[in-house]
Amino acid sequence: MHHFHYAGQKLHCESVDLAAIAQLHGTPTYVYSAQTIADNYRRLASSLTGLDLQICYAMKANSNLAVLRHFANLGAAFDLVSGGELRRVAAAGGDTTRSVFAGVGKSEAEIRLALETGVFGFHVESEPELARINHVAGQLGRKAPIAIRINPDVDAKTHAKITTGKSDNKFGIPLKHAAAAYAAAAQFPHLELKGVQMHIGSQLTSVTPFAEAVAKVVPFVAELKKLYGITYFSIGGGIGIIYQDALASGSQAWWDAQPEAERPLTPEAYGAALTPLLAPLGLKILLEPGRFLVGNAGILLSRVEYLKRGAAKNFLVVDAAMNDLVRPAMYEAYHEIVPLTRDTTRAALKADIVGPICESGDCFAKDRTLQAVGEGELIAFMSAGAYGYTMASRYNTRGQVAEVLVSGSRFELVNVRESFETMVAGEKIPGFLKI
Ligand SMILES: *Cc1c(COP(=O)(O)O)cnc(C)c1O
Repeated sequence: MHHFHYAGQKLHCESVDLAAIAQLHGTPTYVYSAQTIADNYRRLASSLTGLDLQICYAMKANSNLAVLRHFANLGAAFDLVSGGELRRVAAAGGDTTRSVFAGVGKSEAEIRLALETGVFGFHVESEPELARINHVAGQLGRKAPIAIRINPDVDAKTHAKITTGKSDNKFGIPLKHAAAAYAAAAQFPHLELKGVQMHIGSQLTSVTPFAEAVAKVVPFVAELKKLYGITYFSIGGGIGIIYQDALASGSQAWWDAQPEAERPLTPEAYGAALTPLLAPLGLKILLEPGRFLVGNAGILLSRVEYLKRGAAKNFLVVDAAMNDLVRPAMYEAYHEIVPLTRDTTRAALKADIVGPICESGDCFAKDRTLQAVGEGELIAFMSAGAYGYTMASRYNTRGQVAEVLVSGSRFELVNVRESFETMVAGEKIPGFLKI
């Protein structure tokens, strides 16, 4: 559920007419709904009642400082993957000491920063990393809290580029080697064995792989609790969202109309399947959702530049491009595209929706049928709140786009559109090229 809907014929975010945002701040612009984020967070938290739960928002999905502050206010901790993200949590007023540091390639400098700032746990991906964290902690005279990431070898049945829990992925330590890894970790004087972690993939649309992975790892977790007194089990993120019927899925009526057997994954179903498996452990349970919390809480506003009628097909050229929203080019991802002004009297248009970049991959949708729109008119890419802005680049010297946060009838620019001057500020022409 979310708060993007037509009021009259105008697409709104909460009580704000999105056209007003485009008018004031231009396009392309990401727009986020604070209420949707809060609803998603609270709904997930209340789906796993009875557990000692700590939700660590996977901030790589959307790390705007305003979004992070909103999460901090909701009581969330964070799942972070770099020194930069750690600094963002601190800058947003978040609690780093309840946050976890993940990622396969932590540098010495990042480990040092995390130890100095304080984190809840380092999520360790390899044996050399154990040695490095121990070494840095020793230098600082500290003990580093760690959890080892277990790769349960479960197929998440999602896109290959976002599957992480199979034995041929680069992530984690295979379950059969995990006991030895913990035994090795226990020998390091500057490590504190605090938990276990796993994360099997992203955009999972069924609860089955989650339940399978948790069931597979739980006996081992219980064993570790006995052996080392670990206190937490992090089951990662990965809950999928609706992309296909994104706009309609904002309403309860849409969910009620889905046949029981085909009902997409809900936090309630996730909680119902996992809570009974996790409760007997008597451990703190960490969740690391990213996409579920913010994905349907954001859209990308864009304006039509041209309708190019070709011999074989039509091309709707819009002002957003693959550098602003890379998911379609990178994962063949689907984003629903809707007009800001609905007009049922208009004919449908079938077109490829493309950006201005000089790459055939700069295509958001092929042969998409949507309400006819023309030059200068506004459209929205739905479900763009996760892995949208954070994956953006400056390719084609297109500056990073603006971001706006909506709350009720208020909205505020939370990130300015990047100027040409800022884009080239770090570049310089060396002396030996001067005339
Ligand atoms: C990316 C990631 C997440 C979040 O995944 P979502 O699919 O966005 O929920 C959680 N944990 C780890 C370790 C990750 O790498």
